[in-house]
Amino acid sequence: MNIISTPTTLQKLEIAGDHTEFEPAGDHPHSERAAKRLPSDLPCITNVSTPTGAKPIMKTMMTTACERNCYYCHFRAGRGKTQRVTFKPDEMAASFDQLQRAKVADGLFLSSGIIKGSVTTQDKILDTVEIVRRKYQYKGYVHLKIMPGAEYDQLYRAMQLSDRVSINLEAPTEERLAALAPKKSFNDELLQRLAWAHQIRQTGIRASTVTQFVVGAVGDTDVELLSVSERLYRQMGLSRAYFSAFHPISDTPFENLSAVLPTREFRLYQSSFLLRDYGWSVEELPFEESGNLRLDVDPKRAWAEAHLTHAPIEIMRASRDELMRIPGFGPKAAESILKARRTGHLTDLAHLRALGIRAPEQAAPFILLDGHQPAVQLSLF
Ligand code: SF4
Repeated sequence: MNIISTPTTLQKLEIAGDHTEFEPAGDHPHSERAAKRLPSDLPCITNVSTPTGAKPIMKTMMTTACERNCYYCHFRAGRGKTQRVTFKPDEMAASFDQLQRAKVADGLFLSSGIIKGSVTTQDKILDTVEIVRRKYQYKGYVHLKIMPGAEYDQLYRAMQLSDRVSINLEAPTEERLAALAPKKSFNDELLQRLAWAHQIRQTGIRASTVTQFVVGAVGDTDVELLSVSERLYRQMGLSRAYFSAFHPISDTPFENLSAVLPTREFRLYQSSFLLRDYGWSVEELPFEESGNLRLDVDPKRAWAEAHLTHAPIEIMRASRDELMRIPGFGPKAAESILKARRTGHLTDLAHLRALGIRAPEQAAPFILLDGHQPAVQLSLF
């Protein structure tokens, strides 16, 4: 085990913060990774896009030690290369207060490895946030990780104290989770907490819930990942599923597995938004026989090629839902079209461009404008 004898609080924050870069917290996880370093130069500060705007968030862990042994994880028990540091709640809360008052941080994302059980670990997270809220009177953004197996009352308190909680399923089914993280229980420790979070929101507590999947290490397919995501969106009020393409970590049982292409992660996000924001069902997504999505084309376009090429959508008559089936058209484009056609005719791609639709020529093979397939100007270069 790698232990610094007496690290300063700043050293500990650097060690703990450095390791949370693959734990997404905001609405744009890709840019979160790319732009993680801010002028503050502290690795624990990450620019995160939150529901109330982009903020420099202090993203850190109560401890980088863990008694569990998830096969993919930096922090797994026994991994010699991991530097282990631990914070006491008052130390963590005071550090955040200093950074917040210095205007280096405006928001807290707090996670942890598990030591002395999930309940004890969750208590340390809660104690820290109680201090942040009560003693330091911080009223801003807080995102808390819920430990697998945390108690109902702990989850309730976490949701009272925070804006968002993460309950990471890691895998789409019990069998897949057993292959990834043998000490975690899919139903009892994780899915049950996601259901509780939904119940707790019915009492008027507003904190949202997100989850994360490790993608592609143990044969999990896109249809499995998106089926469970759809269930969580529809039945448990999930705000966001995060997909983290597996990449091997040295000195773990998975160190010799191949990394998963980031494109797969991207296609999963695109499909997940179709389920969450566009009213699609998982059966409509264009999976291949393998149960995965094509990597070379975005899922909405693949669906349009199969369904709209011979049955293009008439822009002047289509419903809002039909408009949102067209590649490149989102809720805003649909609204603009519905509004514009009340007062005039849309007969040309230039009319769509004038409504703010950026590349209407991409939609041209799938639409009719006043009865005619729009002509596309071919580029000479
Ligand atoms: S419980 Fe969390 S920190 Fe511990 S090994 Fe598993 S994923 Fe890593």
